[in-house]
Amino acid sequence: TFRALRIDKADGGQSVSTVDFDEADLMDGDIVVRVSHSTVNYKDGLAITGKSPVVRRFPMIPGIDFAGKVVSSTNPDFSEGDQVVLNGWGVGEGHLGGYAELARVKGDWLVPLPEGLDAAESMAIGTAGYTAMLCVMALERHGVTPARGPVLVTGAAGGVGSVAVALLAKLGHEVVASTGRAEEADYLKGLGASSIIPREELAAPGKPLQKERFAGVVDSVGSVPLANALAQTMAGGAVAACGLAAGMDLPTSVAPFILRGVSLLGINSVTVPKPIRIEAWGRLAKDLDRDKLRSMTKTIGFDEIVPTAEAILEGKVRGRVVVEI
Ligand code: NAP
Repeated sequence: TFRALRIDKADGGQSVSTVDFDEADLMDGDIVVRVSHSTVNYKDGLAITGKSPVVRRFPMIPGIDFAGKVVSSTNPDFSEGDQVVLNGWGVGEGHLGGYAELARVKGDWLVPLPEGLDAAESMAIGTAGYTAMLCVMALERHGVTPARGPVLVTGAAGGVGSVAVALLAKLGHEVVASTGRAEEADYLKGLGASSIIPREELAAPGKPLQKERFAGVVDSVGSVPLANALAQTMAGGAVAACGLAAGMDLPTSVAPFILRGVSLLGINSVTVPKPIRIEAWGRLAKDLDRDKLRSMTKTIGFDEIVPTAEAILEGKVRGRVVVEI
């Protein structure tokens, strides 16, 4: 047996406990990984609290990403001792996940630990940082260069937001960080933000076309702030939308799209094809400043997963959290 966090269905809800899990009860896969590190993402918060039905199988071991060492493999791409990273593919949602000493998964879901990153750093990045990279790559594909104008990052002090700020700044963009936490202004400037705007500035419903301010946007919050971000995007610019921290809705009109040619780029990190996955991790290893990564990361132990999951849904987690398994 090995130590794992387990979510069980309980009367009208769910319960979460630390258990000794039997290896025989792991799900199908051609690789067993000894997990050394995981992380706490917003989705892990949803899974552990049950606030949103992201868990599709019970019992479930939550944890949507992990890093560790292969202990056994029948997959030709990986062998014993390989350092690997997993994020996405429904792990921690439909497949037993990362808050456990062992995980059995499909080799196709794994990427080799990118050169230049250790396991802890890869989880400091985690799904949130990886998603920030996908957003930046989407803006780049759309031609959002630093010369085009500033880039807005919403939910800037969160996980996706912090990594997006650091990446965009390193790539030479002028970064405008929107946050609800005025006290994190220095933190965000340290990551490379040029200026800070308070969350309230984007929180009230506004006109579908407003003053053009941003060449690009990385949005991790959705809802009204995303509608306002679209309304403030310059003609021909693009908004990469990946999150819903402010809500699932999007109260806008087609005006930004048909009158300004603004593009809304959807980002789903869960099922990205392997070549793009490997490209994104490679870019993270290259384009993310390690000192900045350290400055946005807190490390916790196994016993702190549940309280941290609750805190992240309240918007109280700054940057990224690594879990030492
Ligand atoms: P996080 O660390 O909690 O970051 C979210 C941030 O959003 C918070 O730190 C806060 O930033 C801001 N926020 C919270 N509540 C808000 C509200 N009511 N209105 C406006 N802003 C609010 O979470 P994360 O792990 O970075 O994830 C961010 C979002 O991206 C989540 O919705 C998550 O589900 C999503 N996501 C999606 C994918 C994908 O594949 N599409 C992958 C990863 C994450 P400030 O304090 O700075 O305002």
